[in-house]
Amino acid sequence: MNISPEGEQLPNVVMPTCPEQKILRGQKALVTGSNSGIGKAVALALGEAGADVVVNYRSGEEQAHGVVEEIRNFGAQAYAHQADVSHEDQIQAMFQRMFQEFGTVDILINNAGLQRDAPFEEMTLGEWNQVITVNLTGQFLCAREAVREFKRRGVVKEVSCSAGKIICISSVHELIPWAGHVNYAASKGGVMLMMKSIAQEVAPYRIRVNSIAPGAIRTPINTAAWSTPEAYNDLMKLVPYKRIGEPEDIGRAAVWLASDYADYVNGTSLFVDGGMTLYPGFTEGG
Ligand code: NAD
Repeated sequence: MNISPEGEQLPNVVMPTCPEQKILRGQKALVTGSNSGIGKAVALALGEAGADVVVNYRSGEEQAHGVVEEIRNFGAQAYAHQADVSHEDQIQAMFQRMFQEFGTVDILINNAGLQRDAPFEEMTLGEWNQVITVNLTGQFLCAREAVREFKRRGVVKEVSCSAGKIICISSVHELIPWAGHVNYAASKGGVMLMMKSIAQEVAPYRIRVNSIAPGAIRTPINTAAWSTPEAYNDLMKLVPYKRIGEPEDIGRAAVWLASDYADYVNGTSLFVDGGMTLYPGFTEGG
């Protein structure tokens, strides 16, 4: 039995007895930017694991409806909702609709993001602001709405032993500097300390906040890095595991991190990068 120092009985970890059971059954998830790439794969993986899912998109309505259909085929509920994560009023309206349709939110996946690359001295204020506003401020706005609801509702022990989970999709560039992408690396470094600071603040309410830091994943954001054999071979110099990541690699990690299997994991970045952060240049040098 799980007993606190004050003698209070704490809810036990909700875990299935066999892996085929849907480990997120009964949970309500919102995935930003899930009409494409990593967000789409995470939304599908959560739906397959039994969660009901809000598929957020900014543009790409048709793709978003396709993701909704696939989730419904798993037997979970889903609907698509258009909102720009950098607009406070749109984010608040998106959560209000979710509370009406699904009752609450248990899992937030802060995924929406973009790149606007330029050599540093040529980077415009517009390019800087757009990346920071979507990648960092967007995650702040969504996390704040989720935490408000998690604290209002508290733990529902039949659903999860946590009052709520936030997973920020960060990047290996929360750690690795990236020339020519100063705005992007700054946004992901910001996500890292935002995530840890929120986690520290809300942990006593049994809210878990973590990041997944992907390496090179095959999605539209980085087509130039993998779409020709030359580019792919160059990329593999940075990946000790010698394969590109697939969006499903992130989907599986997100299901685990959102589930009660990961109940004691809080305030950490899970690198899913084939070893990209292992300083591959030192394999034969140094
Ligand atoms: P992607 O371009 O396929 O997906 C980005 C998604 O974000 C799209 O659905 C897009 O519509 C959405 N989006 C962009 N701006 C938005 C806004 N203002 N409001 C709402 N949605 C918005 O690329 P991806 O690779 O799937 O990227 C997803 C996340 O993963 C991003 O945060 C990215 O930084 C991160 N990431 C990707 C890689 C990689 O190698 N692909 C590596 C590390 C981190």
